[in-house]
Amino acid sequence: MAKINDEYDIGAAFAAVENELMASMIRNMKRHRIEEVDEKKEWEMWQALQLKSLEQYKKANAKRFQNQFHEINGQIESLLYAAKEQGGMEQEIKILRAIKKGFKPPKQRTGSTATTAEFFKLNDRKLDALIKATQNDFQKAETAVLRMANDQYRKIIYNAQVYANTGAGTYEKAVDMATKDFLSRGINCIEYANGAHHTIADYAAMAIQTASKRAYLQGEGEMRKEWGISTVIMNKRGNPCPKCLPFVGKVLIDDVWSGGKASDGPYPLMSSAITAGLYHPRCKDIHTTYFEGISTPPDSKFTRQEVKEIADGYRAEQKQQYAKRQADRFGRLAEYSLDEENQKKYQKKERFWKNAANELKYIISGGAERQIREFNNSLDDISDFNVRTLLFQSGQRVKIKTSENKKSYFDRNKKIVYLAKSVEKGTVAHELFHEIDNTYRITESGMLKENIQKDYQRLQYFSSGYGTDIKNMLYSKYEEAFTNGRNGIKLRPEYRGISDILNGMSDGKINLGYIHSKEYWKRDKAVESETWAQFGRILYDQNEEVLDMLKFVCPNTYEEVMSTLKGMIK
Ligand SMILES: [Zn+2]
Ligand SMILES: [Zn+2]
Repeated sequence: MAKINDEYDIGAAFAAVENELMASMIRNMKRHRIEEVDEKKEWEMWQALQLKSLEQYKKANAKRFQNQFHEINGQIESLLYAAKEQGGMEQEIKILRAIKKGFKPPKQRTGSTATTAEFFKLNDRKLDALIKATQNDFQKAETAVLRMANDQYRKIIYNAQVYANTGAGTYEKAVDMATKDFLSRGINCIEYANGAHHTIADYAAMAIQTASKRAYLQGEGEMRKEWGISTVIMNKRGNPCPKCLPFVGKVLIDDVWSGGKASDGPYPLMSSAITAGLYHPRCKDIHTTYFEGISTPPDSKFTRQEVKEIADGYRAEQKQQYAKRQADRFGRLAEYSLDEENQKKYQKKERFWKNAANELKYIISGGAERQIREFNNSLDDISDFNVRTLLFQSGQRVKIKTSENKKSYFDRNKKIVYLAKSVEKGTVAHELFHEIDNTYRITESGMLKENIQKDYQRLQYFSSGYGTDIKNMLYSKYEEAFTNGRNGIKLRPEYRGISDILNGMSDGKINLGYIHSKEYWKRDKAVESETWAQFGRILYDQNEEVLDMLKFVCPNTYEEVMSTLKGMIK
């Protein structure tokens, strides 16, 4: 299932709200400081000033976040609609594929794909209820966040003096002591049924993930219903949650989303599995259609080793979440403490926990072995036969190892691809294209050079026609491809290959966020071989928008690469 929450990250939107609430409180603390921390009079004046600031803080926040909350709540609706639609469309593709393989659906779907949109508008009462419930929960959480920030601010105003009296030493240290608890916990005003407190960012990410999964399953289910299919199978994956383990690898009759009935087959009902704990909040398990006679038969047996691995994986995941929470906690303390020594102390702890979280994440993801396995499995999805074949053959030729540093690279002498931890699959394709280049001596023979130059001149010519430079010309033509970076606009990560190609062809002049050093480009054939490898990434990724832009940025190189690939396969 695709991640629907990618486009608009609701968790991150709330994290930004939380940060702003803390930041503006701390700004007020910085604005009025006390020289003589032992003077009671000064503190009285300070408190009066801070209470006034608090009143403004309350009013300003209520007004300011109203719009932001409004926007977030509006996003919920479109996210859930999109999730449902996606579920339906992806399901239809799978059903059609199974039919091609010989599956006979119990019912023929009446509508065509053209009527899909209408189909989804029908029967949306269920989705509307889900949207309303989610929005309601969010609204409650939003009110709670503002209230908690106000209460904590008031407490801190009184506590700062108490800490000053106990000998904190400086104004900064006294305030840090007063704010420590609050910063440490964050705005954790959401209480779960088990009594645990969570921040709204945490809660929102969980809630929207759960809701979009439900919407997605609804979309899938309704499509199945159209074809009269109700059997599903719980996927066996790396590390199922212990709660869902009893159902993994088993076939169920989906009476919740696909309109199944107990009489549909000799399998248990989805509704009773859910009652028993399946699809709990934060659940990452998922089911797919079980096509009788086509799908791989159920396999719900786990070896003792597998069960152990699942338990270990689950524990590692818990540890990783803990490490991430610690990193967030010290990050807040580092950012918002006033005293410099405190800032440094917390930064150190933040770094420690961030590293720990990253290490654990890598272990959970299964390390290099898993990365490669997943990459190999993904080759089936490449529609370009030449690209698919060359990547497959290259994968057979090289060894792949985990890189000791954060860089992925191909060592042409040892014929080893070194992969950084948790790289995207596109990066694997990029490194394999370096290997292909090396094996077939492509760029060494002087290929690509002329066309890259031609393409660069063309871009220069084109942008002067626009009356601007290449960067701005691309921005005005492909605004959606850009995002705001620390140093101005840059391309989104999926366009990193194009960014690097432009950086190389311009000798390092064009910087759209993903680049090599100027030194690197001076090496013999660096521009050609990097361009070639970035083509590998982009052709592997098959992102239509990226391909469109690539064809515009370097049409001549594109032609040459494509015909070269064709020639290599024949
Ligand atoms: Zn689960
Ligand atoms: Zn490279």
